[in-house]
Amino acid sequence: MNYQNTLEFAIKLDEQDALRSFREEFLIPKHKGKDVIYLCGNSLGLQPRSAKAYIQDQLNTWEDNAVEGWFQGNDPWLSYHKKLIGPLSEILGAKPAEVTVMNSLTVNLHLLMVSFYKPDNKRFKIIMEAGAFPSDQYAVESQVRFHGFDPKDAVIEIAPRNGESTLRTADIVKQIEDNADELALVLFSGINYYTGQFFDLEAIVGAAHKAGAYAGFDLAHAAGNVPVKLHAWGADFACWCSYKYINSGPGGISGVFVHEKHFADATLNRFAGWWGYRHDKRFLMAPGFQPENGAEGWNVSTSPIILMALHKASLDIFEKAGGLQPLRTKSELLTGYLEYLINEVNKASGEDVYRIITPTDPAARGCQLSVVCKRNAKAIFTYLADNGVIGDWREPDVIRLSPVPLYNTFSDAFKAAEQLTKALTAIN
Ligand SMILES: *Cc1c(COP(=O)(O)O)cnc(C)c1O
Repeated sequence: MNYQNTLEFAIKLDEQDALRSFREEFLIPKHKGKDVIYLCGNSLGLQPRSAKAYIQDQLNTWEDNAVEGWFQGNDPWLSYHKKLIGPLSEILGAKPAEVTVMNSLTVNLHLLMVSFYKPDNKRFKIIMEAGAFPSDQYAVESQVRFHGFDPKDAVIEIAPRNGESTLRTADIVKQIEDNADELALVLFSGINYYTGQFFDLEAIVGAAHKAGAYAGFDLAHAAGNVPVKLHAWGADFACWCSYKYINSGPGGISGVFVHEKHFADATLNRFAGWWGYRHDKRFLMAPGFQPENGAEGWNVSTSPIILMALHKASLDIFEKAGGLQPLRTKSELLTGYLEYLINEVNKASGEDVYRIITPTDPAARGCQLSVVCKRNAKAIFTYLADNGVIGDWREPDVIRLSPVPLYNTFSDAFKAAEQLTKALTAIN
């Protein structure tokens, strides 16, 4: 597309946008009486307008039926999670039996590593990206120590080459090959939270399996943002949160994928709880854990229905939008437009203050652009916020800007770029 650097052009793209009405489905915070330019869906997605009603429904069921709510009403709580699994499995490219919802993200990462990180003296290493989200680093280090190994020996972090900001797939594959004999697990994010790089997950799975290791993914920044094919790619496990691009509220319930090839593997460890017990026998309360077949066999605790209701409010919007594919098409155009506009700001100012470290290839990124500010980074970030542009800040000099196709417009991108220009003269 030949983009143009005018508000008229942005408005024209908005008018041509078949998904433009979905913005109305969300509540947008105000700044001085006007909608903020919210480019922070990478951190917390906006609230669906319908969320209150979905929660109210469950409060009504609780009020009317109390404990019978588990079995009665329109959506008995006992099977409420089933309504989430269909749409989620489409978003994640999984079979429904491979997906469940439970807990929160880091907790699930731990539970999945209980199953899929089984080090012995020969195979004990984990490969991950350098600069992974800190919670993932802490989870991995503590798992390694729990098994009696030293993270210094057991954790291999792959860093970008000197002078580069993102990883080359060939370098990731090479590290996996070089450590093949000692490798237990390759654990990568789908999209790196800092750079916005979308990794070639299929290539990573292929290399990990060839080395005899498991491949697992933290899809916090990928789920609901970019299409993935967890089943077809053969990933062993994955988990994600629902509060970033899936708009299911702060601390929203997390999702889990376990590939069906592992369902019958009795050698996998699990930290079990009654909610993962065979559903047909759960209430016999018998001793001896027997897992439900499928990802649901990893469930531990009673369903948090209010969190699930919030999740359903959002997933229903994804379904109404026709799933991820149309959203992704708009997303590539929208993020491409913001990228173009930021480059225009640099051109007009005659100096490259804003350097985008996210890959330029649309296939190697999602919504997010990570912008390194050459000077006055924090002041520029504050200027944006003071002028109604909400991105987020990452030390030491990165502003993340993520136009989300469900609720952001091309005009949002234009207005954000306008403020980036104004910031250059306002701050010196
Ligand atoms: C957001 C995010 C988390 C947060 O985990 P919680 O357990 O939900 O706090 C973890 N890992 C990654 C990669 C993230 O992007």
